[in-house]
Amino acid sequence: MGQQIAFHKADQLKVKPDPEHLGFGRHFTDYMLEMDYSVDDGWHDARIVPYGPITLQPAATVFHYGQEVFEGMKAYRAEDGRILLFRPEMNMRRMNQSCARLNIPAIDEAFVTEAIMKLVDIEKDWIPSKPGQSLYIRPFIIGTESFLGVHPAESYKLIVILSPVGAYFGDTVNPVKIYVEDEYVRAVRGGIGFAKTGGNYAASLKAQSKAEELGFDQVLWLDGVEHKYVEEVGSMNIFFKVDGEVWTPALNGSILPGVTRDSVIRLLQHWGVPVKEKKISVKKLFKKAEKQKLEEVFGTGTAAVISPVGFLKWEDRLIRVGNGEIGPLSKKLYETLTGIQTGRLEDELGWMQEVSSEETAVAD
Ligand SMILES: *Cc1c(COP(=O)(O)O)cnc(C)c1O
Repeated sequence: MGQQIAFHKADQLKVKPDPEHLGFGRHFTDYMLEMDYSVDDGWHDARIVPYGPITLQPAATVFHYGQEVFEGMKAYRAEDGRILLFRPEMNMRRMNQSCARLNIPAIDEAFVTEAIMKLVDIEKDWIPSKPGQSLYIRPFIIGTESFLGVHPAESYKLIVILSPVGAYFGDTVNPVKIYVEDEYVRAVRGGIGFAKTGGNYAASLKAQSKAEELGFDQVLWLDGVEHKYVEEVGSMNIFFKVDGEVWTPALNGSILPGVTRDSVIRLLQHWGVPVKEKKISVKKLFKKAEKQKLEEVFGTGTAAVISPVGFLKWEDRLIRVGNGEIGPLSKKLYETLTGIQTGRLEDELGWMQEVSSEETAVAD
């Protein structure tokens, strides 16, 4: 693996978007990181190049058989000017777990982290600093071999693009309405549910559209075999506060192991709040709700951090969670996580990694 990271300067830089109207994933920075894989050279030719279209053969594996993995992480600008990444080693490890499942050659986690830091450092003027804002980092790998036979590609491309983003669900933390999907499934054990790969999303779009047509924001997936047990929401893991305890579905091979999920579990343990990873039946949840024991429901993910759930619809039943506002524990988790991420709160659990200019000095 080549340890050099080349830098190709753009002739002209873009006009930055209005920080008041960033949205999510709409604007991209001036540069991207690119790296290639071939059987002979392994991962090589890491380079930071102007952001722009890429050229691929129409027969490239990714277009036909979906050989692809991706990640999602964020860089934050602290009040004191430091640039911070939240647990990037977790994303790199998960990327390799996804690669292993999709039969994609592993990356050098430390090297790609260093390359991402270099890219973020070059693009530091793009990191917005208002509350809820950050620079979203999207690494992905695609199979690029030009061949229509079904077999793992012999060549790949890794690309990392950056997008300045506002709060995922807009400015106010409005509880979302969730539709429990009982017809379509997202993933089954033994499949690719635990991998962060586009195929899982392709499989989810139909149900997401159906939920939106019915007036809901997101889908809550049930297990693919019995359609009884809760798995996760659209692009988030899910938590329930039931009678003083916090429950989240145990990782079973069909659920994406979220970095935010892991961080919430650790924070709760740190605070002494009882938290259980277990098999959770939707029937039991609705029973608890009827007895007024379902206190809070929230989704977790890098994009939204904590997303409170206000309504749950399953078959012909609709329950309202809490009083339509974010619950106290959800709020405390949101404040703590975003506080640590933006350097406002002490990083007691050692999660933040600073992007420093000295280490990432670039040679032209
Ligand atoms: C990325 C993702 C999550 C959340 O993971 P984080 O690491 O917390 O961002 C949850 N579910 C799915 C399907 C995902 O793709």
